[in-house]
Amino acid sequence: MILLGSTGSIGVNTLEIARRFQIPVEGLVAGNNLELLQEQIDEFQPELVAIADPARIGEIRHPRVYAGAEGILRLLEESASPRVVNALVGYTGLAPTLKALELGRTLALANKESLVVAGAFLDRTKIFPIDSEHFGLWYLLNDRPFRRLVITASGGALRDHSPEAIRGAAYAEALRHPNWSMGDKITIDSASMVNKLFELLEARWLFDSAAVDAVIERRSVVHALVEFADGSTTAHLAGVDMKLPIAYALEYPVTEPILEPVDLLGIGSIAFEEIDTERYPLWQLKTELLAHPRLGVVLNAANEAAMEGFRKERYDFGTMADRILDAWRHFRDKEPESLGEVMKMDKEVREYVFANEK
Ligand code: NDP
Repeated sequence: MILLGSTGSIGVNTLEIARRFQIPVEGLVAGNNLELLQEQIDEFQPELVAIADPARIGEIRHPRVYAGAEGILRLLEESASPRVVNALVGYTGLAPTLKALELGRTLALANKESLVVAGAFLDRTKIFPIDSEHFGLWYLLNDRPFRRLVITASGGALRDHSPEAIRGAAYAEALRHPNWSMGDKITIDSASMVNKLFELLEARWLFDSAAVDAVIERRSVVHALVEFADGSTTAHLAGVDMKLPIAYALEYPVTEPILEPVDLLGIGSIAFEEIDTERYPLWQLKTELLAHPRLGVVLNAANEAAMEGFRKERYDFGTMADRILDAWRHFRDKEPESLGEVMKMDKEVREYVFANEK
């Protein structure tokens, strides 16, 4: 396989599964953590490597290292592996997703932003999601007719703060996720509920249905529920560990244990709560977003641009959400009709958010 984002949270877990199933690794791609990348190169002996910064190629001991966004695409073109794992974070992941699909590869996709911004224009038949909720839905569905798909949210790092304290929260606070250990961006996306909006869109494209919703389940023991056409509901319970969805995206069927079974008596009670728009103001976009899923590009670009201001402490958590809502209102009437328009809109939305900071 080829692994994009090997030094991240998903990347490291993916290599654990590769080790376990002895899956050969033809290519590794990482950003700035070159020390870890070098360890991975030494262990997995990939033929191709790419990193973010051309100026740092000399720091890697390997004969074929490419760099930059173009370097990732070149690596994909020169590779032969049938499977690409895209665990890059953010919009950066879109171009490699498009390239992998264009080359006819199977795509194990953690980079949910690819589906959020361009789901309408991707060949979804070649995509296997690496996301616990969508894995749970797929596991439950078994091609049976359903009425509604429901995914769960933990509520994120600020779930017990008052609405005022949420507004004033700083970056470091929003990074303290109660259940999951993940990369920084998705952890902030969880605190703002943007991650759950993304996942609704992801589900919308993967399962071709707008009958999707989310509820809070604070322990992250239940990841997904399916309400079937017959009126029964099933739930998917599993430990808080991405290795399960990763294993299925890489090796199917999975016949040996990946996780310890859920300790039923240890869980205690499980409760489901509504996602409240006072605490999570961005949740008010849900209905419109599902009715106009091509506007995912607006949400994503506004989120990435506003998160930069929040990360650099130019403003607080509440202001980040305000900027996203403002960009949404500004661009909501322009649904993109092609991939080219998606890319153009991505740029325009970012420019708008940055210009409004001045
Ligand atoms: P991380 O931030 O932990 O990892 C991101 C990876 O991408 C790192 O290897 C990073 O390299 C690399 N990277 C970033 N920018 C570039 C670039 N310009 N060129 C090359 N490599 C780059 O993120 P996560 O693993 O948490 O998330 C990855 C994706 O998976 C996201 O889309 C997220 O939403 C999704 N996801 C994550 C889950 C999780 O549990 N973490 C669960 C479900 C989905 P480096 O670190 O070396 O700079």
